[in-house]
Amino acid sequence: MFWFDVWTDLGPLIEYIGDGDPRQLRIPRGAKVAYAVSDMGWSLPAARSQRVLDLHIKLSSLRLPIAAHGPDRFEWMRDPNISVGIFSSANTWKLLRQPSPEVPWHPLSWFSEGVPRYGFIQWLALRGRLPTRDKLYRWGAVASSTCLLCSLEEESHSHLFFRCNYSTHVWHRFARYIWNLAPLDLHATEAWIRNPGNDQSRNRCLIALILLQCSVYLLWSERNTRIFRGVTSTIDSLCGKLNAMVRNCILSLLGSSRRIDPALLADWYTIVLSR
Ligand SMILES: [Zn+2]
Repeated sequence: MFWFDVWTDLGPLIEYIGDGDPRQLRIPRGAKVAYAVSDMGWSLPAARSQRVLDLHIKLSSLRLPIAAHGPDRFEWMRDPNISVGIFSSANTWKLLRQPSPEVPWHPLSWFSEGVPRYGFIQWLALRGRLPTRDKLYRWGAVASSTCLLCSLEEESHSHLFFRCNYSTHVWHRFARYIWNLAPLDLHATEAWIRNPGNDQSRNRCLIALILLQCSVYLLWSERNTRIFRGVTSTIDSLCGKLNAMVRNCILSLLGSSRRIDPALLADWYTIVLSR
């Protein structure tokens, strides 16, 4: 449709020209592009406004859409001037989105072997966007900001991950066999993972990523379970769940088509048995 389809980079011409002005070009609202073109060129009246003159200039720069130039078809455009022919969801996404600066901690949340559900919670935690009780208290939504895991200090992101007595025990139970001195918080872990040192194997780094993601998810779940269901897990019980979560992640990776070192599970067992 001449007026309503996007067939130039000006967008729908009804919007470009203005809804009241199609009469200027003497082209009916329901006309196709072919109505305005012949083998000799565009069949448009002389321009009586700058906008229509600009449209003339634009159309004169296009290849004439006539049968001699091939059949009418849709084309996927990588940018306004480059046709790629084949649709690509990746290219389309890049075209549509507004890219933001890359953040240094993204490998912690978004790595190909990670679990998206866990990664999402970790992403919120790294951005400080979980509804922790210090925030809820400031908003007047709860009567106390005290941490539900230790009942000793205010619940904040830095407290939950991992300065809280309860969280520290769960985190260190496994982390101390990956790090001689386990990182105290998410951002310190991120710094290590970005620069682990030459003596660290890929398996060790991957286990560190999985362990961190599972720990954050499980501690946040434990906090929510205490609030919404009134059920409390002991440190030993939560460590058992964490072990099972990490093991299941590794087993699912080994059962997938990814290139994973078969020794990954044995490396995890070595950590577990070292406890
Ligand atoms: Zn606490």
